This record gives sequence, structure tokens and C-alpha cells, in this order.
Amino acid sequence: MASPTTLDAILSLCKRKGFVYQSSEIYGGLNGAWDFGPLGVELLRNIKDAWWKEMTYRPDIVGIDSSILMHPRVWEASGHLQQFSDPMIDNKTSKARHRADTLIEEYANRLRAKGKTDQATRVESALHAAASNEELHAIIVSNAIPDPISGTTDWTEVRNFNLMFKTYVGPVEDVSNTVYLRPETAQGIGIAQIGKSFRNEINTKNFLFRTREFEQMEMQFFVKPGTEVEWFDYWRQARWDWLVNHIGIDPTHLHRKPHEKLAHYAAAAEDIEYLFPFGWGEIEGIHSRTDFDLGKHQEFSGKKLEYVDTVTKDRYTPFVIETAIGATRTFLAVLCDAYAEEEMPTVDGGSETRTVMRLKPSLAPVTAAVLPLVNKDGMPEAADAIMRNLQRSIRVEYDTSGAIGRRYRRQDEVGTPFCVTIDGQTITDSTVTLRERDSMQQTRIHADALTEEIGRRLNG
Ligand code: ATP
Repeated sequence: MASPTTLDAILSLCKRKGFVYQSSEIYGGLNGAWDFGPLGVELLRNIKDAWWKEMTYRPDIVGIDSSILMHPRVWEASGHLQQFSDPMIDNKTSKARHRADTLIEEYANRLRAKGKTDQATRVESALHAAASNEELHAIIVSNAIPDPISGTTDWTEVRNFNLMFKTYVGPVEDVSNTVYLRPETAQGIGIAQIGKSFRNEINTKNFLFRTREFEQMEMQFFVKPGTEVEWFDYWRQARWDWLVNHIGIDPTHLHRKPHEKLAHYAAAAEDIEYLFPFGWGEIEGIHSRTDFDLGKHQEFSGKKLEYVDTVTKDRYTPFVIETAIGATRTFLAVLCDAYAEEEMPTVDGGSETRTVMRLKPSLAPVTAAVLPLVNKDGMPEAADAIMRNLQRSIRVEYDTSGAIGRRYRRQDEVGTPFCVTIDGQTITDSTVTLRERDSMQQTRIHADALTEEIGRRLNG
């Protein structure tokens, strides 16, 4: 079942609550770039930490952090300089630039929405079969696909547009000084790596889904040739399980999409897609890449990149199984999956809408809110002591403003799993109420037991 969440609801909550802001907002923003605010940076960090623990807290994987700027030959060897491009087409009237395949895909979606299913299927099959820019152009022309902005069919040819950002090292802007911002982390020959990647996407869209600066979490697992099929199966299952069990994504909102068209070097490839409010979209790719990358880097660098088995003395170039997931795209999936609006009865017999972010507690930006019922009678002092104690092990927010019900709602909205309320009774017997976000159940416990109880529920 699709989540009823709209992207607008997520976007507005992100802005209102300090998860994500438009980059350079006071200058009108910069397309395809976003800033993570105080809550967003915590959630993103928790997702990255969960990935790092999953991938590197085991005996056969280690992490590294390779530099963003690399020798330009890296991108020649990997094929990115020649091939890392998208087909683009310009409309001469609006001067708008589109990705040609996306333009066709969206046209087919519009046909389908209008009930023209046969025509939509024909357009999609032609897109699927298209093997060149000329064929993409022919589909656009023969279907008279209009520019969504000007409405005209006044198109240029389809050309390749390389997605790598180019810059120069040192003071001289010269071909020999050209370097590229990495468009993926993996070519630093990762093992496990988290870091920023840059792609000069033709069209950015859907908030954090397609941006020009984003973060990836990639892992290259080196295996003995001949064992790649079993390791590919292992990783496709392991990555699915991680998304469900550690990130809390509803498995009915995920599906596997095996690649029908494989790159010439690939033995197998599969995407895990998430059902975003705008439709299915890839969040992770799992690729069995043979010895293509290491082979190319050996060829271009002239350096041997072989493994020597210390027991059998076998010498071989390992095959690679790669898992590549966007941290920022997963962040968006996590928010979409957690966001809920539910009707709640009010004390006066009416009802009100509660917005609640049902984040997995271990991912929540704030683990517990400490709330003195009133700002007097010794409560702020008691709350302060409790907060200091809790924040030694978890992230805590302190909130004194407004009615307690309103404060609970504020915490629900940002996904805080626990609220600790300090009231008159706390002053006499050191007990507090511990309120749980999803069930809204409150239990009275001794303040000294809070850290242990919250820890138990977090790991439970
Ligand atoms: P797409 O088909 O959506 O362009 P891709 O197949 O090029 O993605 P990969 O090169 O396999 O993507 O990158 C791995 C992951 O990095 C993707 O699954 C996605 O989560 C993330 N990613 C790739 N491009 C972007 C982008 N422009 N913005 C945000 N995340 C991205």
C-alpha cells in the first residue's frame, strides 16, 4: 500500500522543524543543494552510524575515507569520463533542458493517467528498446511530446551531458590541471565508505531524491572469482534486511528490481526501490561487477592489484560485489515512511489531528524530551538534574514552553520516542512519568531508573 504522505507535507515539516533547509536560502536558493538543520543532521548521522556499524563491525570489512579530489586518470579508467552521462534535449522556445529518457517516461505516465494505457505501453516499450540518442529523439518527435513548460515540440537533437563537476587544481585553469568532484565514492576503492558525491544532474527534483550534492554509503566486497553468485545473493538479502530491521522501513513499501539491461562488465545487478509519494524510486543498488574496476585500474595505472592467497599461493584479481545506497535519499525514504497523521479524541469530546513521526527510536534525532510541568516549585531544578544525567548517554531536549499536551505534540512531530515529565510528585518522591510516542502510554518510574529503562526500550 502506498503511504498517504505527500512530498509537500514532508518538505514543509522539514523546513518548519529544522530537518532540512534550502541551501543559500537568503539568495533565492541553489537548485539541487540542501542544508541539514539541527534535527536533520542528527537523523542523517544516525542512519550513517547504523550503516557503518552494520558494514564494518564484522571481521571481513573495514572502512576508509578516500579524498573527494582524485587523479583524473581514475575517471578515465573507470569509464566515467567517457560514459557517465545522461541524454539531454533542449526546447528551443522555453530554453528548458530535460533528460530525454525522463521526458519520455513522464509523457507515458501522463498518458496512463488519462487512461490511454495502450499508447503509454507502446511509448514505454520504445523507450526500453532505445539504444542510442537518435532513437530517443525519434520517440520524442514521432509522439510529438510537448515541452511541459512551453507546450511546443520545438526540440534540439539529443546529446550526451557528462554529469561530473569539473574544476582545476592550483592557480592555472588549464586542461592539464583539470580534476573532477567524485560522482560516486566507490572509485577510491572503498571497502566501506561514507561520503559526499556530486553529480551535475540535468534536472533535480523531488526534494532530496535527486540532488547535485548528496551523500552515499558504498561498500565493495572482494571475492574469489567463482564465488560471486553466492555473495551477490548474500548481499541482496543482507541489504534488504538492514533496511527493514535497522532502518525500520515497512517491507511492503520496498521491492526488488533486477536490472534487465546489464552493463557489459556486470554479472548481475539489482536495485532496491522504495515507494516514495511520487512513485517507486531506487534507494540502493547491489551490483556484481566482476574484476572490471580493478582490471581497469591495473591497466591504466600499470600497478598490480592482485590478491595472493597465503595458503594456496593462488594469485588472482578479485571480483567485486558492490552495494551502493544514498544516505540522503534514504533519509527521505525514512521520513516518508515514518510520517503519519492520525485523528485523536480531545478531552472535550472532539477530535484533533496528531502528526507523528514514527521513526525507529534508535534513529530519532532526539531520544528523550525532558518536560517540567510548570516552570516553578522546584520542577525546573529537578528537570535540569534529570536532563544532565540522561544526556550522558542519549540526546535530550529540554522544553518548558506551553501546555504539556502541546509539548507532547511537538515532540511527536519530530519523532522523539520518549517524553519525561517532571511534576509535583517528582519533588516529593523522585518519580517521573515516561511517555511513549506511539502508544502514548505513560508509566511512572523512579528518576534513577530512567537511563536503564530508556536504554532497554531502545534496544528492545
Ligand atoms: P539514478 O538511476 O536514480 O540516477 P543511479 O543508478 O545513477 O541512480 P548509483 O550510481 O547506483 O545511482 O548510486 C547509488 C545510490 O546513490 C542511488 O541508489 C541513490 O540512493 C544515490 N544517488 C544517486 N544519484 C543521486 C542523486 N542525484 N541525488 C541523491 N542520491 C543519489
